[in-house]
Amino acid sequence: MSLETYQKKRNFKRSPEPRPGKVKDSKKGVHAKYMIHEHFASHHHYDLRLEVDGVLKSWAIPKTPSAKESTKRLAIEVEDHPLSYGEFEGTIPKGEYGAGRVLIWDQGTWSGWDEDAYKKGKIELDLKGQKLSGRWLLIKADFRGEKKQNNQWLFFKAPEKDN
Ligand code: MN
Repeated sequence: MSLETYQKKRNFKRSPEPRPGKVKDSKKGVHAKYMIHEHFASHHHYDLRLEVDGVLKSWAIPKTPSAKESTKRLAIEVEDHPLSYGEFEGTIPKGEYGAGRVLIWDQGTWSGWDEDAYKKGKIELDLKGQKLSGRWLLIKADFRGEKKQNNQWLFFKAPEKDN
């Protein structure tokens, strides 16, 4: 896990966002952090963030996440963010990367990380948030058969299992 891209994209003399710092060991399993930021950037969107191996893996979601069955949201994987970003709320100034207000829209914990599943493009998330909870899926989209190269995923509530 690396925060190099995160660092390169930002000017921390101008942006109030957290400096990357060192990637520390972090919790896996039941107490890993989960949050979604609402980001009033030039294109309003949401940012899903999942604590994995000392960073926040991140996906930008152009439309409001919905727990309604069969409502799939496009989720574009973006650069890893530092863990300290989880508590960040503030306004990124005009002219800076991601300029606009950032608010925490939902937060809690998650489990379900599996490196192989991630590489294969199917993550089953167990979310314990205020707005979103239960089983959710992140599935790599296969637009134009470019599954391996692209960064586009679909984020949606998992259908109830038949028992
Ligand atoms: Mn964003």
